[in-house]
Amino acid sequence: MSRQYDVIVVGAGNGGLAAGGITSKNGLSTLVLERHNIPGGSATSFRRGRFEFETSLHELAEVGPNPFEGTVRQLFDELGAKDVEWHFEENAFRVVLPGEGGFDATLPTGEEAFADEMERQVPGCRESVKAVFELGRHAIEAIQYLSKGTPDPAVLQSEYADFMRIASHTTKEVLDALHMPKRAQDILVTYWCYLGAPADQLDFLYYALMLILYVQLRPAMPKMRSHEMSLALEKAIHEHGGEIWYNSEVERILVKDGKAYGVAVDGKEIYAEHIICNSHMGNALSRLLPAEEIPEKMLKLANARDIALSFVTVYLGMNRSAEELGIHDYSNFVIPCADSREQYNRCCSMEDSGYAIMNCLNTVIPESSPEGTCTLFFTTMYYGDVWKDVKPEEYKKLKIKIAGEIIENCEKALGITLKPYIEEIVIAAPPTFARYLMTPRGTPYGYQFDMWDSIMMRTMNVEAEEPIKNLRFCGACGERGDGYSSAYISGMNTGLRTVRDAKEGK
Ligand SMILES: Cc1cc2nc3c(=O)[nH]c(=O)nc-3n(C[C@H](O)[C@H](O)[C@H](O)COP(=O)(O)OP(=O)(O)OC[C@H]3O[C@@H](n4cnc5c(N)ncnc54)[C@H](O)[C@@H]3O)c2cc1C
Repeated sequence: MSRQYDVIVVGAGNGGLAAGGITSKNGLSTLVLERHNIPGGSATSFRRGRFEFETSLHELAEVGPNPFEGTVRQLFDELGAKDVEWHFEENAFRVVLPGEGGFDATLPTGEEAFADEMERQVPGCRESVKAVFELGRHAIEAIQYLSKGTPDPAVLQSEYADFMRIASHTTKEVLDALHMPKRAQDILVTYWCYLGAPADQLDFLYYALMLILYVQLRPAMPKMRSHEMSLALEKAIHEHGGEIWYNSEVERILVKDGKAYGVAVDGKEIYAEHIICNSHMGNALSRLLPAEEIPEKMLKLANARDIALSFVTVYLGMNRSAEELGIHDYSNFVIPCADSREQYNRCCSMEDSGYAIMNCLNTVIPESSPEGTCTLFFTTMYYGDVWKDVKPEEYKKLKIKIAGEIIENCEKALGITLKPYIEEIVIAAPPTFARYLMTPRGTPYGYQFDMWDSIMMRTMNVEAEEPIKNLRFCGACGERGDGYSSAYISGMNTGLRTVRDAKEGK
């Protein structure tokens, strides 16, 4: 069989588009295969009535308003994908714990303003909040040093001692060690759900990095929803000579004697030197790869990991403006209890967890829906295989019940009235995402982080965990885990490793 492409990318999600952009930009003939008729995977939009809804993006990290440059902005610039108009949030988040002893805190962006507001909410916590930012910045420098090549242990000990101290500790352990009052910890870790694991399971390093990126570079939103970013990357791939075939579901990844050499699509085989898989690793292991060619260590690793969370999302088109509804903040976290582990535990069943995030794009981009209207986007999460027992005949009723609970919980906690003003409603549940993304349990988040499987461990083992020659994975199952910026960066890194190997003739 003769090689037809240098690289085939399976899936045009954020990871696949970034990988295909990098390989085509670097002169490798690249074919991206996507089963849908549009790019983006999770990163897209849809229309109902007079509204265009963002499908998935709450907040995008690592862009940064000019002149600050986050890695995502650098990647888009590098690929020439400049057609995106990013807008930035003023506040990081609002978090509301209703009831006696609860709190209602709106945390601004900017490190000083953030620390000031934390101090106002919980007197005496300022120093420990500043220490979190200090440690996070130190960690960024250490990671930059580590990424330059083989690190010198003596330099690590002398220059990056604090990094070495915190690298193997959970967020909760470090915040306790900094003597941060528990109430301040509960507010500070609001973003834990974006990384999918509670504070006592999530490594401090990654949480601090994410917090700094959101608070300093500010969360970004593309004007025309995330679809605009997917289209910009699609265009860049074409401009660099790459091809994207839509409506092309890869049925198998071809592997022989431990080496990947092509894919089967529409009953035909296409051959390439390198295969990059943006389909969930669980999907690749159970459907795409020949069972006899899967190394045992790959299976063991996949089985040791937990499949990450799944979401129910409710999209509302409202016939009132955000102002008329009394909505002023973009990201509103409504939590049922203060502690992140308890919040997590509540999300491990089909009962109403009381947990919801409500986003209103009009507070950042007023013209994102017709005048006098606004769109709202609600999310709640589920851990474990809790949706497996839902019978098909119960599904619709259940979805509507959950949507009702989410809306009511937000109405009560935020003191707003929504129900009489709903013009359009769309509900997506784990089966919706499973069908669209082809991920187990519909997770958009890959595998859940754990201390044995933290960002450090994944980054250090990234090549060791790709035991089939010429086959790499990118996206939410990659070393950076879930999220838009993580998937883009994992795609970029996978593309760069592929370019390196292609140039070295490996
Ligand atoms: C409701 C929701 C809210 C979210 N909020 C945020 C947020 O605020 N901030 C943030 O950073 N992240 C957020 N995320 C997570 C983020 O969207 C994902 O982690 C990220 O987009 C995953 O990208 P990926 O590269 O893994 O690809 P995916 O989005 O999973 O796309 C994979 C692509 O591969 C295609 N594919 C799969 N199998 C095949 C095959 N066999 N052949 C051809 N094509 C195939 C699929 O059709 C799909 O297009 C959210 C996700 C959801 C669903």
